[in-house]
Amino acid sequence: MPKLSAVIAALEALWPPERAEEWDAVGLVCGDPDAEVSRVLFAVDPVHEVAEEAVRTGADLLVTHHPLYLRGTTTVAATGFKGRVVHSLIKNNVALHVAHTNADRADPGVSDALAAAVGLRVTGPLVPDRTDPAGRRGLGRIGELDAPLTLAEFAQRAAKGLPHTATGLRVAGDPEQAVRTVAVCGGSGDSLFGDVRRAGVDVYLTADLRHHPASEAQQAGLFDEGRPSLVDAAHWATEWPWCEQAASQLDEISDRHGWALRTYVSRTVTDPWTAHAVSTEFTNSNPGAPR
Ligand SMILES: [Zn+2]
Repeated sequence: MPKLSAVIAALEALWPPERAEEWDAVGLVCGDPDAEVSRVLFAVDPVHEVAEEAVRTGADLLVTHHPLYLRGTTTVAATGFKGRVVHSLIKNNVALHVAHTNADRADPGVSDALAAAVGLRVTGPLVPDRTDPAGRRGLGRIGELDAPLTLAEFAQRAAKGLPHTATGLRVAGDPEQAVRTVAVCGGSGDSLFGDVRRAGVDVYLTADLRHHPASEAQQAGLFDEGRPSLVDAAHWATEWPWCEQAASQLDEISDRHGWALRTYVSRTVTDPWTAHAVSTEFTNSNPGAPR
């Protein structure tokens, strides 16, 4: 059985911590480097339910995409929800390791897993990492469909390829628009609209799109045959495929070293939105009429 330090070294080779954004908090959050590891659980969010799942699974290591503490703290007391996670992990000998923006930028990274989940062939990063001579690392990915679909069909495919969430997908655009090229960005992607427009893709699939950036992108699209259309999924759903990708990567490393690790992927839906309600259709037969 490998020591935690050896497993962490392998994970840091996949997602070097120095490639994380400056504001990020990646790496080992708790855990004894000399402890032995036999089971590893991958999840998006280090929340209470996932910590409990790690304990139930008998995991020695929990690897999450999102940091538990992004900013500094002065207490890990179990009186707060984050401290409670720390307590249940330490009490049950579960280490926690975070790979966040370093996993976003990696090759393969979070957006490669998202692209694969919705059936895209990746042609390159949306925002290439200038330090990568191979031109494969970076933020987001651009991909192609094998055969064109309508926007409505592509949205259906994305909904099928991603795990179920209460909110599902939102679509902005003409449902009949032909889709061949797609930009994807796992997690919040509205800071990349400029890059998406420059890429000239038919659709942008990401999460957390806000009203104003989405509205402006749609208005700008009026000058470009409606491109790009937007498909907005739940943040958790766009990053969950990475957990399976990461688990397979660790499986390979484990086989190579004869570690016999057992890897698990959490299927607990940790998207904070738990329900979805649709109001009755808004009809306005006399637009602009005085009230
Ligand atoms: Zn995220």
